Amino acid sequence: MREVRNIVILTGAGASAESGIDTFRAAGGLWEQHRVEDVATPEAFARDPELVLRFYDMRRAAIQEKQPNAAHFALARLDREWDGELLIVTQNVDDLHERAGARRVLHMHGEHLNAWCTYCDVRSRWRGPLIERPACPECGARALRPDVVWFGEMPYRMNEIYAALRQADLFVSIGTSGAVYPAAGFVRDARELGARTLELNLERSQGSAWFDESRIGPAGELVPAWVEEVLGG
Ligand SMILES: [Zn+2]
Repeated sequence: MREVRNIVILTGAGASAESGIDTFRAAGGLWEQHRVEDVATPEAFARDPELVLRFYDMRRAAIQEKQPNAAHFALARLDREWDGELLIVTQNVDDLHERAGARRVLHMHGEHLNAWCTYCDVRSRWRGPLIERPACPECGARALRPDVVWFGEMPYRMNEIYAALRQADLFVSIGTSGAVYPAAGFVRDARELGARTLELNLERSQGSAWFDESRIGPAGELVPAWVEEVLGG
C-alpha cells in the first residue's frame, strides 16, 4: 500500500445528523406538505419566491441553534494536525465543520450562511432572513437568494474537487447515501486514479461496492476512532 500523504474527505448529511440537523427523510421528504424537491429548485423560486425564501430562512435560523458533534471536531483535529494535503468536501450547507475549527473545507452545495446577489454575483455572509428582500450589501439591488445549490443546478468548484481527487492517496466518504451525483461518483474516480477508499456510514451506501473498506456505525463514533488511527499510526 502506498504511503498516504493526500486525503480527500467527502461528508454528507450523516455527519450533521447527530447535531440534530434533519434532512426531511424522516418526514418522508416533506416540509409543510411540500416536497423538498419542490422548494429547492430554480423553478420553485421563480414561481413562488416567498415560499422558497421562507423555507431557507427557517433552515438558516435552525442551523445557528445547532452545535458541531464529535465527527466535526475529529475532522477539525485532523485538519490541524495533518501536514499532508487535505480537502474536506462537504455536501452539507451548514457551517458545523468550520465552527468545529476545520479550515480546509469546500462547500460543493453552497452555504446557508451566504446570500448570493443574482444582480452583481457577489456572495455576502448572511445570518438573518431574506424574505423581506433586503438590499445586497455590495450593490444595493434587492436580488439576494440563498447561496445553496438547488436541484438541477451545477455544484460548486468541481474543478478543484477533481484536482484534489487526482492527487488523493486516500478517499474517505462520511455519512453520505451515495445516491446523489456527482458526489456519488467521487469514489469511483478516486479508485480509478489509485486512491484507497474508505466509507464511514450508518448503513452500507448505494456505492458501497466501490469502497475498499466500509465501517458501519454513527459518525460520532467512527470518525474520531479513524482520525486517531490516522494521526497515531
Ligand atoms: Zn449585489
